[in-house]
Amino acid sequence: MRALLVSLGLLTTGFAVWVSLLLFPFSDDHTVLPDQIQIFDGVSGSSGLSVVLPISPTPISRYEAGTQSRLAVLLTDPTSNWLRLAHGLKTIGVPFLVTQDYRQALAHRVVLVYPMISGRVLTSEAMKALASFPRNGGTLIGINVLGGGLNEVFGYREAQSFGRHFELRLNQLSPLLAQFTEPKEQVLRLGDRQKGGEPVGSHSYLAPKEAPLAVYDDGTPAIVQRSYDQGRAIAFGLDIGFLLAKGYNLWEEGIAESYDNRFEPLLNVVLRMLKEIYRTGEPNAVILGTVPNHRSLSVLLTHDIDASTSMVNALRYAEFERSQGITGTYFIQTKYIRDCNDDIFFNPQGVRDLQTLHKLGMELGSHTVAHSKVLHTFPLGTGTEGYPSYRPYVKSRQTAYNGTVLGELRVSKFLIEHFSPPNTVISFRPGHLSNPPHASTSSRGWRLSIQFVRHGQQLARAPAVPIDL
Ligand SMILES: [Zn+2]
Repeated sequence: MRALLVSLGLLTTGFAVWVSLLLFPFSDDHTVLPDQIQIFDGVSGSSGLSVVLPISPTPISRYEAGTQSRLAVLLTDPTSNWLRLAHGLKTIGVPFLVTQDYRQALAHRVVLVYPMISGRVLTSEAMKALASFPRNGGTLIGINVLGGGLNEVFGYREAQSFGRHFELRLNQLSPLLAQFTEPKEQVLRLGDRQKGGEPVGSHSYLAPKEAPLAVYDDGTPAIVQRSYDQGRAIAFGLDIGFLLAKGYNLWEEGIAESYDNRFEPLLNVVLRMLKEIYRTGEPNAVILGTVPNHRSLSVLLTHDIDASTSMVNALRYAEFERSQGITGTYFIQTKYIRDCNDDIFFNPQGVRDLQTLHKLGMELGSHTVAHSKVLHTFPLGTGTEGYPSYRPYVKSRQTAYNGTVLGELRVSKFLIEHFSPPNTVISFRPGHLSNPPHASTSSRGWRLSIQFVRHGQQLARAPAVPIDL
């Protein structure tokens, strides 16, 4: 699948923030005054308790079976981001299995060793077997080849660690990479040099025997290959599972150029590269179609409704999408409190517009109550927050009071569902993409993102963090 996520921001609110700061002075005790809140008579909820369910890590055994024509992932560290790699391979339609047994892996024609090749994680017998694999016609993909004497097998002199690399530049002359014709696919971002943050960890393979498949911005080789009579060995200097985890956990802000309205193909290119390597290395390769309805490309159109004037624009977008047979997702901020961000727009007119969106067949998602830029600092909350007693107040871009993560989730979901029955909200996007750490355990985390759960039954995909709302 070539999935392209298109997010259309309807308005930026920077100007409105500072104007309204002057219009709506804040009470010192952090309470919301009666004229600062929209009360819908007779509406209150949600009732019940929200519970964050315990994490249940996916066992490797779930992915360990399958035919020998699959790509074999030889897992050398089970605490790595292997599950993210598995999710990525599923999205791109590459059949695979995961095993920690090198003998089982080497029964396949294409083997990807993840997350590293090193004497610390593989026995000398396993190393010897890996070394002879490409010579005997196999395709060996090594992620982070850091030791064990396989330099010669992959055709480079030495690995250089701790480089600060901000770009990955593909070799446009390589037949393996011929499909990448867009400039944005050929030069990929690994960090943001302007913001001065740390790029993702990477290392270089110096003095390669063959032209590298990709180099970093300093010209050192990032992905190298060595060809054999039938086989091939390819070494990546990046942890692609970690990269996928950053994207899937919504922590790509240090890499992505923008969080909306831009083409950011890094993960897409890496996965398509793996697909091409698999297809050329396995004569019985089968690629699964992952785009519905026999189409060639999946596009998700999403819109954020987070300013007084957004809903009018949203209706125009929705009418157009409807006319084209497209369903967009509209993330609605249930803004029933006037604060320094903006005026109230989840009011009777806002509700009528919400219902029009629903009638047009659009998906309604939650875009929080408060749309705070510092949602990621909010406490988790009690799981009992409800409308109208939940009253978060945004004082500035960096300060908000009385907000909780569960309050933002529960109350927005309740209000949208209450006013668009029998709708069930299963999608959530934080304001400013301020992703709370509760939504993903860490850069090595197991969790994907917050998705809603009702009555203990998970409605969306399996790897989501289970929050029972
Ligand atoms: Zn927003």
